[in-house]
Amino acid sequence: MDLNPNNLIGYGESRGSGKTLQGVNPAGGQVLPGEFYLATTDDVEQAMTLATRAFAEYKLLPNEQRAAFLDAIAQEIEALGDALVQRASAETGLPESRIIGERGRTTGQLRMFADYIRAGHYVEASIDTAIPERQPIPKPDLRKMMVPLGPVVVFGSSNFPLAYSVAGGDTASALAAGCPVLVKAHPGHPGTSALVGQAIVRAARTTGMPEGVFSLLYDSGFQIGQALVGHPAARAVGFTGSLAGGRALFDLAAQREVPIPVFAEMGSINPSVLLPQTLAQRAAEIARIYAGSITLGVGQFCTNPGLILAIKGEAFDNFIAILSEEISKALPATMLHSGISAAFRQKTREMAEQLGVTFVARAAEEGQEYEGRPMVAKAPAQTFISNPRLHEEVFGPFSLLIECADQAELEACVAVLKGQLTVTIRGEEEEFGQYRDLINQLRDKAGRVIFNGVPTGVEVCPSMTHGGPYPATTDSRFTAVGVHAIKRFLRPVTFQNAPPAILPEALQDDNPLHIWRLINGELSRDPIK
Ligand code: NAP
Repeated sequence: MDLNPNNLIGYGESRGSGKTLQGVNPAGGQVLPGEFYLATTDDVEQAMTLATRAFAEYKLLPNEQRAAFLDAIAQEIEALGDALVQRASAETGLPESRIIGERGRTTGQLRMFADYIRAGHYVEASIDTAIPERQPIPKPDLRKMMVPLGPVVVFGSSNFPLAYSVAGGDTASALAAGCPVLVKAHPGHPGTSALVGQAIVRAARTTGMPEGVFSLLYDSGFQIGQALVGHPAARAVGFTGSLAGGRALFDLAAQREVPIPVFAEMGSINPSVLLPQTLAQRAAEIARIYAGSITLGVGQFCTNPGLILAIKGEAFDNFIAILSEEISKALPATMLHSGISAAFRQKTREMAEQLGVTFVARAAEEGQEYEGRPMVAKAPAQTFISNPRLHEEVFGPFSLLIECADQAELEACVAVLKGQLTVTIRGEEEEFGQYRDLINQLRDKAGRVIFNGVPTGVEVCPSMTHGGPYPATTDSRFTAVGVHAIKRFLRPVTFQNAPPAILPEALQDDNPLHIWRLINGELSRDPIK
């Protein structure tokens, strides 16, 4: 396997500080081959200088050329073959089958953005032609379109080493928008990052992209990430990880002389509400579905169902009994890295110490430090309402069950919830009407409202919202999944009375790109007569 030991700065390489970082197999702590040089602040400076220069050229490239670059990245990732799958699996403890699926999602996303920008409509061209004779003042000619922000800093996530890391959704959407990307590699999968980083560099070379359109930097602490976010040339940040990390970078970006947006996807407990009639009719079936969702991927999904609310009674008792049985039978499995398994152990310990919280099931302990042991606990609604510690994410295979006295208490629990990526409601068709207020209340809490499903499983398509009110994300107006993720890295510019020769193609009278445009308030693909 070609494990390039260097940071990839622009198209060059740097040995940075001379200090290195190595990949570790989380199942047992075995050090993996390959040493990855930690970047210095000089590397940050060089990467940003190159990215700024690259932006001047990259932002003006025809959509087709940027699309060809994205397609080439997908091809280069596929060409890495089994080496990538084996390395990613070794570094994260995720099974190879999961990595293969995630690779398909990663290359699919790259090609999806390529097709999206090829179609051209993403610039949202809007033209209001002049009315020189208008009284009392003439109306000017106004033409608006979306343009890229500039260099974007991406923090790869630990739980999606491909789909939300070096060439993941943030990178793909920023490159598609016309922004150079500087990735701060996640130290949990340095070899995987190197392989994918090199694939991007090869794709950039073969498609003739400007030097500096992509850089990859390693760090073992916060220094390089913070230097990237604080650098005056940075224009936006994409982040997936902890609330503490996302919030720290958000605050740092806000304190800059020129603040920049930080699109951070952080914690979510993805509440599920189980309505009484459906519980009475199918408690066992729903319990088994939830057991699968809670333990999927050792619970290491941002959409893991961390909270389940229902009205207490025999039906909910049945649900708890069957869920407990399933969770007790579940097998502990390797978590992504030692920090995540340590955090899971600590957070579940803290949960057990909270007054009123009772653990109802724990999978058998295998005695391995790095493993996540599935668990469920329960608490009464009033305990939940009065203790904000119970509203926090426990990242891993854990869920808290809340027993409510009645519909009013259910609504009171929902009222104290923080912002979420998803909320789920399970009910029979006829009972949804009775809970309309609750459903409307839930809608204000999340980016996605799921009916009779589970939150895990995120379809990548234009109608998906993977986002939500704080602390699920730092900006609920955007999604991190699907083609509309590109909007995070674009801003509108209006040209007023611009000479036709100066106008970008999307705004020219004859519409050479044949895209949909809003012309004097009406959607049209026609040239302006
Ligand atoms: P993390 O600790 O937030 O780290 C993510 C990335 O951000 C890493 O590259 C990290 O650098 C960097 N970083 C974190 N805090 C920073 C700061 N103050 N300044 C500059 N850079 C900073 O996330 P993680 O390692 O992936 O997992 C830890 C916890 O995050 C989990 O236990 C879980 O609670 C949460 N998590 C949530 C999601 C989700 O989707 N909701 C996904 C993954 C993880 P270094 O690692 O080099 O320090």
